[in-house]
Amino acid sequence: MLSSSLRMWLSWCSILWLAQSSFQASVLGERSLTALSNDAMAKLLTTPDPVKNIDPRNPSSHLSKILIPRAPDTQNNTFVRNYLISTLKGLNWHVETDEFEADTPVGRKKFANVIATKDPDAPRRLILSAHFDSKYFPSYPMNQVRLLHAVIQYSLTCLQFVGATDSAAPCAMMLDAAEALNPLLEARMKRIKNGSQLDDEDEDVGDLTLQLVFFDGEEAFKDWTDTDSIYGARHLAEKWDTTYISPHTKRRLMNDVTTELAAIEHLILLDLLGAKQPLIRSSFIDTAWMFDHMVAVEERLGTNGAFAYDEEQSMAPGKWTSYFVKRNKDIFHMGGIGDDHLPFLNRGVSILHIIANPFPRVWHSSKDDATALDIPTMRRWNLILRVFLAEYFELEPKGSKSRSLNDPEEEEADRYVARSVSELSL
Ligand SMILES: [Zn+2]
Repeated sequence: MLSSSLRMWLSWCSILWLAQSSFQASVLGERSLTALSNDAMAKLLTTPDPVKNIDPRNPSSHLSKILIPRAPDTQNNTFVRNYLISTLKGLNWHVETDEFEADTPVGRKKFANVIATKDPDAPRRLILSAHFDSKYFPSYPMNQVRLLHAVIQYSLTCLQFVGATDSAAPCAMMLDAAEALNPLLEARMKRIKNGSQLDDEDEDVGDLTLQLVFFDGEEAFKDWTDTDSIYGARHLAEKWDTTYISPHTKRRLMNDVTTELAAIEHLILLDLLGAKQPLIRSSFIDTAWMFDHMVAVEERLGTNGAFAYDEEQSMAPGKWTSYFVKRNKDIFHMGGIGDDHLPFLNRGVSILHIIANPFPRVWHSSKDDATALDIPTMRRWNLILRVFLAEYFELEPKGSKSRSLNDPEEEEADRYVARSVSELSL
């Protein structure tokens, strides 16, 4: 990853662009998203348990399976890749790998991106992504770690770089979102495939699917340069830019996109998340509306008490503070931070970059391990992502009533949501 000082320089030297608000709405695909009903919200916030998948104390959690040294072209990297594949296949997602070789400063290496798509027949995709490799440090022993018992493995990996925030935790959050949203996504797919009459909401987003991309080779083997970094993202963006869609289904034929790259509606990239009290900034004008909606989701959940967890009362209603730097609606920071989104951005893909800025203090040190992670913070990210994505895809269960924000009649139901979540947390 690009060095902190250079990144900050790029960030702060970015161009300030005064934008016209009318331009935003008409050109940039802005939609107004409907808030979930309290029924749907309560279920989504509690099923599955929002700590289960990101708990580093549980050796069988998704996070624990990923939280090992996993530099590209190592046994551990293959172990993590296979874990991602089997987990998503188990949820009935279409999974493929993008495998290739590339020259690096430490020799030729093999890489493999993992791409999981809920509905491969859908003409358009919202991508949620993160990198699953960890940074290669030649001084740390890499062999045999995965073969040891979990406890021994944990103590050994403390001596090595495991990239907990960078980006094991974001990968585990992606698996959590897939698991939580899966029943709702499947129900909608069934309606579409059965040719049932679609609701108005389905027609808005009925040709859109969720795709998860786990990039390999994000990290530089030596120092971050254009050629020693983001190996997986560079390969996949170029491949998709030159892969013409084979219209093997009627649904894909009806759409006017020509390449796999053009079929991306937005790419959301998560990075350096899981440590306490991150600060997230909006970097791109065309996803400013999505950023604002994520802020609104956070506000709604925080106000309803969904963030208070266990002994962590600093996130109780009235006490918690936002993870997001409030956006100035007229000024946008363009340029942002060097990361996996760049090869897509350079080809015109719309990007929402959710990255802690400033970086976590443990960045690229052996301290970026389980102790750098804060469970209430990761739990809160899971809740935000679940609700944000459900509202983006309009995944309201059939028959439940849509709600408007701040409806006084729903106050009791709001309390029920908070109660359900806090009971589950005990
Ligand atoms: Zn990194």
